[in-house]
Amino acid sequence: MTVTILFAAPSEDWAEYEAPLTDALDATGLDYRIGPDLAPETVDYIVYAPSSKVQDFKPFTRLKAVLNLWAGVEKVIGNPTLTVPLTRMVDEEGLTQGMVEWVTGHVLRHHLGMDRHIVNPEGVWEHEAPPLAHDRPVTILGMGALGKACARTLRHLGFPVTGWSRSEKRIANVKCVHGEAGLAQALRGAQIVVLLLPETPGTQNILNAQSLALLHRGAVVINPGRGPLIDDAALLAALDSGQVSHATLDVFRVEPLPGDDPYWTHPRVTVTPHVASETRPGSASRVIAENIRRSENGMPLLHLVDPLAGY
Ligand code: NAP
Repeated sequence: MTVTILFAAPSEDWAEYEAPLTDALDATGLDYRIGPDLAPETVDYIVYAPSSKVQDFKPFTRLKAVLNLWAGVEKVIGNPTLTVPLTRMVDEEGLTQGMVEWVTGHVLRHHLGMDRHIVNPEGVWEHEAPPLAHDRPVTILGMGALGKACARTLRHLGFPVTGWSRSEKRIANVKCVHGEAGLAQALRGAQIVVLLLPETPGTQNILNAQSLALLHRGAVVINPGRGPLIDDAALLAALDSGQVSHATLDVFRVEPLPGDDPYWTHPRVTVTPHVASETRPGSASRVIAENIRRSENGMPLLHLVDPLAGY
């Protein structure tokens, strides 16, 4: 039987994905057809970007699964017409590697105080060496595919890393805490906090006035997770009071960030335009093809989203 796969993403993405998806699917040995325009009632799998035109899954009467191209699923999970399993993108070679590089770069920028030397128009000779990594506690909220990988790299560089998740974790040389009680433990005294949580009802405004107050005075907030994780008014107040010395923000409640948003002009905020990490067509196509191969061979899908948990 031919497996029929719809590529449902903005139309310009097909040009980037056609060759790598075809190569990866060829390697599975499956008999398949794939394209961006297929009759809904013939489709077995949808390779999906939440920004696609497809928002109603009801016409896809023989659909077996939706394979999301993004790690974040908050724009798909509440869709009442989606009644088949949903997977999210987990790709060590591409998405995870990109996030590790972005997080490590921004952590090191703040740890080393690089701005002082890069932006020094007066040519001030200020001889002040930064502490070593082992004197700079870093906390990562979210110990999933991305958080864990960042934790390992930062630990390897010498930072004392604490990671927070919903369920209990054991990661070598990383202090792992979990659940509501673990949050205060994770945040108390942290000098750099990295947000790698999904957007769910349980994670909204996790950084708020109360939780920001637990951080080491002058801490740095780095958010490549999702905008709603932060209570923006509370963060701006913490920046103005000096409780937070800098925030590097990649994601926002409204994207693109509106031109009049105070984050753009705040002297202690760095805005990056949702570039922390992208799905890379080559490696992501192999992940998608492997999941279709597994499903067609009666094996469980990898990276399944739990609709109840919301991620
Ligand atoms: P993941 O593997 O699903 O991991 C999510 C982590 O968050 C897990 O450790 C989970 O705990 C934890 N978590 C969820 N709800 C929680 C709660 N209420 N309390 C405590 N911990 C909670 O996700 P991922 O692949 O690492 O991706 C994380 C997020 O990064 C994505 O959802 C997306 O929003 C964002 N992202 C951003 C970019 C970008 O370019 N800016 C790129 C990719 C992804 P358990 O381990 O116990 O389940």
